[in-house]
Amino acid sequence: MIASALLDLNWIGQARSIATALVRSDNFNALIDPGPGSTLATLREQLELHRLRVGDLNAILLTHIHLDHAGATGALLSENPALLVYVHARGARHMMDPAKLLDSAGRLYGPEMKKLFGDFLPVPESNLRILEGGELLVLGSRELRVLYTPGHASHHVTYFDPTERTAYVGDTAGISIEGHPFILPATPPPDISLELWLNSLEAIAQLRPRRLFLTHFGFSDQPERHLKAYRERLLAWGRLSGEILSRGVDQSEAMRAFARAVAAEAAEFLSPAELSHYVFNGALQLSWLGLERYHQKRTEAKSRESAG
Ligand SMILES: [Zn+2]
Repeated sequence: MIASALLDLNWIGQARSIATALVRSDNFNALIDPGPGSTLATLREQLELHRLRVGDLNAILLTHIHLDHAGATGALLSENPALLVYVHARGARHMMDPAKLLDSAGRLYGPEMKKLFGDFLPVPESNLRILEGGELLVLGSRELRVLYTPGHASHHVTYFDPTERTAYVGDTAGISIEGHPFILPATPPPDISLELWLNSLEAIAQLRPRRLFLTHFGFSDQPERHLKAYRERLLAWGRLSGEILSRGVDQSEAMRAFARAVAAEAAEFLSPAELSHYVFNGALQLSWLGLERYHQKRTEAKSRESAG
């Protein structure tokens, strides 16, 4: 059995920003989150280092369908039509028809979107394998457990390899560069739920993983500490964003206040170069918009309750 490997996609020329996991077993080759369409050339180079081509891949396992994780999937399919694509039920239709997904991403990223993420081609329905959570996937002689872990996205799953005790958590455990103790949340729109997210962190902790694999970026070898610290960080972001919203300032001032507070906090733990790398990966303005929407939904739900 070959251990899983990390492929650095060198997103927009930046090392240690987006990681893909290559999981191999008995001639079965799977990628967990192949990354955006814009890094296909790097993905190919990275596969070559393992003496693999796209045609040698058997499966793509998506933690969720955001462009930085799943964007390359359709292009890989067009090159290797036998590839199976595993995705949660709530994300599946967007893989078949990404128009709506690209529309909302386009509103967030504007004209930069194509440069950042490249093309997102549709995936034929017959290639999709739909997940709900709780499945046991057999990949060669290896088994991966699927855990439904919403919070960052309503269709987010985590893959757990019980042999290596590695949990491939996508964006569920935030952004931490190669196990750095500072963890930055990523809370983009549209479906952030801190309540679901905390449950997901608890469910991952209960697997007792030996290490976590984060898309942004790499392995974290102290899962217990990481998950606990990240839980605190998420709660702090919930409080911070709620407090800023209660000031009633306009959107752009609120966003600036949020970014200032996060940067000030991060500066205690990170050098200026590290900080700019985290912020580059973390897109704070998107995280603000995601949290704002989260609070709005909660307020609406509360007023519905009191009206009913
Ligand atoms: Zn991501």
